[in-house]
Amino acid sequence: AKDKGRNSFQFYTADMNLAVEQRLTIERELRQALRFGQFELYYQPLIDLGTEKIVGAEALVRWNHPVHGMVSPADFIPAAEESGLIVPLGKWVLKTACYQAKGIQKALARDFKISVNLSARQLNEPDFITTLERCLRETGLAAASLELEVTESTLMVDAENVIPRLEQLRQKGCSLAIDDFGTGYSSLSYLKRLPINSLKVDRSFVKDLPEDEEDRAITSLIVAMANSLHYKVVVEGVETKEQHEFLSGCGCHYGQGFLYSRPLPADHFIALLFADDND
Ligand code: C2E
Ligand code: CA
Ligand code: CA
Ligand code: CA
Repeated sequence: AKDKGRNSFQFYTADMNLAVEQRLTIERELRQALRFGQFELYYQPLIDLGTEKIVGAEALVRWNHPVHGMVSPADFIPAAEESGLIVPLGKWVLKTACYQAKGIQKALARDFKISVNLSARQLNEPDFITTLERCLRETGLAAASLELEVTESTLMVDAENVIPRLEQLRQKGCSLAIDDFGTGYSSLSYLKRLPINSLKVDRSFVKDLPEDEEDRAITSLIVAMANSLHYKVVVEGVETKEQHEFLSGCGCHYGQGFLYSRPLPADHFIALLFADDND
């Protein structure tokens, strides 16, 4: 069993003993990864669909594993959340993203916004606001340059505690986005109570555009609703020119996806940003 776990690096399996064993292995490895600096942030540009310029980026964590190479977050974020290691990892992500965003702003001499994903565990940490304030102070990044992304499911877990927490974040001057919008079960009346700035429309609605009639109806409705509620709307997973055309045609202002760029290591992202600035 041990050998199999080592070779395939599969964290999920039907075999319970194996699953527990693998979970312990990954927890131990995650702890080491934090200690030895094996995490890296990739950046995916956020595009203004009108000008097709880069207006910001989303920080996406990768694990540069000594044996398995670059591991995608889908393969370790669940274990990090379950073990609580998402808290120190999330702090590292926040600090690194703010630090790099500040560096980019200095070099660009214009506004640049960074988006960071937050997990429910992080948001519910009693000292989260203090951590955030310290991070902004130490990196010199303005709160207005930071957008925090939380998923609908995070918001639904403990709404009574989450809403005041989000309000505190807003008072600090950070922006808030609902991530994977449309995949959870938040009602419109609930949405109205949330102190949010942006909606990020989940990729599942975009992948069959522009052919799929229902997806056309759903995305244009979400975009129209978001626009009239004065939320910024970002569509995720834009992969084709046709999707881009459809989305800009229905009033969507921002997009993210492989059509514009895959998530890139910091140095590549910065090179892209400078090239983008000069044309
Ligand atoms: P997400 O926040 O929804 O991030 C967008 C994901 O979609 C990224 O996957 C990105 O690479 C992918 N993507 C972007 N454009 C396209 C496209 O055009 N087509 C397709 N097929 N995919 C696209 P990634 O980097 O593997 O991240 C997966 C998830 O892991 C993220 O989903 C987020 O929920 C989580 N995650 C990543 N970094 C962090 C982090 O620092 N903290 C926390 N809590 N979660 C993170
Ligand atoms: Ca996100
Ligand atoms: Ca998303
Ligand atoms: Ca359909």
